[in-house]
Amino acid sequence: MESEQIAQMRSEKYNATVHGLNKVHSDLMMIRIKPDKPIMSHKAGQYTLLGLGNWEPRLPGTMEEVLPDSERSKLVRRSYSISAAILDEKGNLGNNQTTPYLEFYIVLVRETSSGKAPALTPRLFMLKEGDRMFCGEKITGAYNLDLVKPDDTVLLLGTGTGEAPHNYMAQQLLLASHKGPIVSACCVRLKKDLGYLATHEKLMSQYRNYHYIPLATREPENAGKKVYIQDLLKSGEVERKIGRELDPSRTHVFLCGNPAMIGVPEKNRETGEYAYPVPEGVIEVLEKRGFRADRGHHDRGNIHFEEYWS
Ligand SMILES: Cc1cc2nc3c(=O)[nH]c(=O)nc-3n(C[C@H](O)[C@H](O)[C@H](O)COP(=O)(O)OP(=O)(O)OC[C@H]3O[C@@H](n4cnc5c(N)ncnc54)[C@H](O)[C@@H]3O)c2cc1C
Repeated sequence: MESEQIAQMRSEKYNATVHGLNKVHSDLMMIRIKPDKPIMSHKAGQYTLLGLGNWEPRLPGTMEEVLPDSERSKLVRRSYSISAAILDEKGNLGNNQTTPYLEFYIVLVRETSSGKAPALTPRLFMLKEGDRMFCGEKITGAYNLDLVKPDDTVLLLGTGTGEAPHNYMAQQLLLASHKGPIVSACCVRLKKDLGYLATHEKLMSQYRNYHYIPLATREPENAGKKVYIQDLLKSGEVERKIGRELDPSRTHVFLCGNPAMIGVPEKNRETGEYAYPVPEGVIEVLEKRGFRADRGHHDRGNIHFEEYWS
């Protein structure tokens, strides 16, 4: 595509600017995006769309994309949960409801098993501060704190960048002086994949009811004793940390990221019964203990979830 044509497509389709970019490492970043228009009012935990044109360059070393010419002028869009740095530059609790930008926490998908090259992240990882891109004007999602009461125990359990909405939720709970314990746990392969670790450590030193539990399954010291989110709940470690039982009547659990960790039960169309997936996910672990996952917008339980893929 000619450079004039590209400039034309960018000015037609893009409505936001990269305001800040923090590469945790080559495959993980926090990116702040400033939309041209004011940001619509929204809730912690919700998501919007980000996009770039298929005409944009891809990061070298990622899966090769075979694209027909007819697709070249299209905008590729994906959903992203809104994250938060939680603290401001001075180390005080920030408030991402009032910033002129949205923060996102994104991992590079280098390849897929489907044979179709990942479309957006190899392009997002080429961005630099000041570059233009697409950001959805609509912010949406039922994954939010609406049902949480001030004394409730809140468990925010994620894998990888599934921590994103939990950071925003933790910030808003702390801003609202939430009384109950807040536990955020994140399961990653390596410690270097815990992009917000230093922030969580600062928060724990400032707020007695805030607990962060990092789980790094592929670190050599954890060889032979990997701990996943499911194990954390079964072992009683969460109760020990907060000094309280996980009582389903006063606990809300949020699960975000890898669908295998979440383990959404599937409804059998003929019998109407739900069957849990194998291996066991967190929903099965908790439903056996009296919790109940959301079964739709009008049938809400005390386990809420956001799957990043299916
Ligand atoms: C509501 C919602 C919120 C999301 N929020 C985030 C977020 O905050 N941060 C984020 O990094 N991603 C998030 N995702 C995933 C995101 O929408 C894209 O699917 C992802 O960035 C891959 O896009 P792609 O175009 O590069 O790959 P695609 O062409 O879309 O390929 C999809 C494949 O990539 C793999 N994949 C997708 N996401 C991940 C991931 N996070 N880790 C490992 N493998 C993955 C899966 O195998 C999936 O089938 C979210 C998804 C949903 C539905």
